[in-house]
Amino acid sequence: MDLSTGMQKMSVGQPPAGRGAACLTCKGICSGFQPHSWRKACVVCRCSQEEHAPSSDSEDDRKMGRLLADSRYAHLTAKVKGGDGLRVYKRNRMIITNPVVSRKDPTFNTITYDWAPPGLTQKLAILYMELLPEEKRPVTGTEGALYRRRQLMRQLPVYDQDPAQCHRLSEAEAKAMALFVKSYKEEALGVGEVALPGEARASKDDTAKQKDGKGSQDRQDSSPTANGTLGDCGKKSEYRCDHCKELAASDSPVVYAERAGYKRLWHPTCFVCAECGEALVDLVYFWKNGALLCGRHYCQSLRPRCAGCDELIFSEDYQQGADGLAWHKEHFCCWQCGQSLSAQCSCSSHPRPV
Ligand SMILES: [Zn+2]
Ligand SMILES: [Zn+2]
Ligand SMILES: [Zn+2]
Ligand SMILES: [Zn+2]
Ligand SMILES: [Zn+2]
Ligand SMILES: [Zn+2]
Repeated sequence: MDLSTGMQKMSVGQPPAGRGAACLTCKGICSGFQPHSWRKACVVCRCSQEEHAPSSDSEDDRKMGRLLADSRYAHLTAKVKGGDGLRVYKRNRMIITNPVVSRKDPTFNTITYDWAPPGLTQKLAILYMELLPEEKRPVTGTEGALYRRRQLMRQLPVYDQDPAQCHRLSEAEAKAMALFVKSYKEEALGVGEVALPGEARASKDDTAKQKDGKGSQDRQDSSPTANGTLGDCGKKSEYRCDHCKELAASDSPVVYAERAGYKRLWHPTCFVCAECGEALVDLVYFWKNGALLCGRHYCQSLRPRCAGCDELIFSEDYQQGADGLAWHKEHFCCWQCGQSLSAQCSCSSHPRPV
């Protein structure tokens, strides 16, 4: 019990973004993040913000609330009291308390997960967590929780969602970005659903509709489906993972993605971005041409991303480097002296793209 309160305090006491946190890459060199005015990087060590991992749970929850609001996943958000319609992520924290039986006095072993798949029984959620490698389980205060937080920054940058977080957009750029965000929410954004093979809620709905042909009749919730019941332990189901093409065990949870249709499913460790190969954080995916992508890679498959400030470019007038990198015109400049990169500057250090 004491343990869990201690852990909760720890996550509340994080420093706000853009200040304080030391660089995880430059241990001992950078003592604290100092934001560059537009590069999303630290002026002390030039590493990205995510390498300093300075965000807090409340910031992450606001960002996720903004992402999922006005989408078909709005049920994963809640209105902020007095927040004028603002929505925040209803992040599903999971606290598991196990009695320790080896001693005379009963003590409890508590594990807190910063996030767990929503809408599951605890038993299924634990099975899901056990399938993840330990360093990626979002247990509060561990390496896995830090991995989750860094992936939230990496895969779902706030400046891919909110024009107000971008640096000096023109009115036309802000408008183009707002349309871009609206259309990815309508066409691509999804949140994976964890279930046993063949047991996804919506796939059962589909089957029920097909059976009675109307879909308006009350669904018999407990009607046994042909496969994947809890009884047949360890058996292979007839379902194959869309990523590794191996069979999924019928007693082991898998991930479904509504946008991909319920014929496809993934092993939890196979639910990854096709571009960067990272586990899709909090199961948030973007569906494009038959592939799962993280937010970052979906967005930059449609718009160029500036190698200077890391924002998407909504102007048609931008700089294209010989190396294929894109830059806002005013960001095509040296880290050190600010001179344009079209001419060689006298600085010894090479400019470092974020
Ligand atoms: Zn650094
Ligand atoms: Zn730094
Ligand atoms: Zn797989
Ligand atoms: Zn990716
Ligand atoms: Zn830029
Ligand atoms: Zn220079």
